[in-house]
Amino acid sequence: WNYYNDSLKKSMLIEQELINEMDHALENHEFVVYYQPIVDVRTKKTISAEALVRWLHPKKGMISPGIFIPAFEKNGFITKLDMYVCEEVCKHQREEKDKGNRVVPVSVNLSRINFYNENLYKEVLGLLDKYNLKSEDIKLEITESAYEDNPQDLIMAIHTLQKYGFKVLMDDFGSGYSSLNMLNLLPCDIVKLDKRFVDKLETDDKSKAIVLSTISLAHTLQMSVTAEGVETKNQYDLLKEMHCDTIQGFYCAKPMPEDDYENLIKG
Ligand code: C2E
Ligand code: CA
Ligand code: CA
Repeated sequence: WNYYNDSLKKSMLIEQELINEMDHALENHEFVVYYQPIVDVRTKKTISAEALVRWLHPKKGMISPGIFIPAFEKNGFITKLDMYVCEEVCKHQREEKDKGNRVVPVSVNLSRINFYNENLYKEVLGLLDKYNLKSEDIKLEITESAYEDNPQDLIMAIHTLQKYGFKVLMDDFGSGYSSLNMLNLLPCDIVKLDKRFVDKLETDDKSKAIVLSTISLAHTLQMSVTAEGVETKNQYDLLKEMHCDTIQGFYCAKPMPEDDYENLIKG
């Protein structure tokens, strides 16, 4: 009990420290965007990427989003951070276009509490306008568990975003207590199969059957499928056999800083 108490106190202190520093860190550009390529399963060509934020803390070094995102979701700061990441991505896309480089759509994570903001789509459109981009230059990822909070508003927000031409991704499919019915409930364009399923592909026949059914149902519903967290050639080959559309994972590429990503896309 004592030990638990101490570690709880320590993690609360760490959380408080991050919260005290977050506003300054944002102004100071300590949050940086890494890009993880998303690859076409047939051609192995990078056809998209996901923006993943890191905190480059001047004293603590690089802090992973798993540490600070949960705290920022609790206090609401995540909405500011998500828009910051979205703007950084827009800036990057604009710079690449200006250089005449190839540009592929980059998906941005939108934490669930963004969907309580009915002006969300206006804010995103404002950024596109500022950087003279089109809705196909970015995509928006929403975790499927957001459905539990506020199904009606979420569905409406997705429809609005799609009306303006955005592709909407259902993130972490299969990570919670979701059912295949979620594919029907959430009108998304792309389903991201959670790493948990991918991990079990090689060893568990039931998981394999679920992945196969998910891919085929998604296709019937006109959605495409990205598998996340693919780490081995064997997983890649299995997913290819199952007609999965795109792959994101260390087997293809890890999340990387902007410059490395730029070089990779330029080829
Ligand atoms: P996510 O959206 O599911 O992002 C994928 C995570 O899986 C990333 O971790 C990525 O580095 C990791 N990953 C990708 N391929 C592999 C693989 O083959 N093996 C393994 N072991 N891991 C892989 P990361 O960057 O630490 O991000 C963790 C989570 O933090 C993200 O999960 C997302 O929920 C959240 N996050 C990151 N950036 C943002 C952001 O800008 N806004 C919001 N709201 N959340 C973010
Ligand atoms: Ca994501
Ligand atoms: Ca995910």
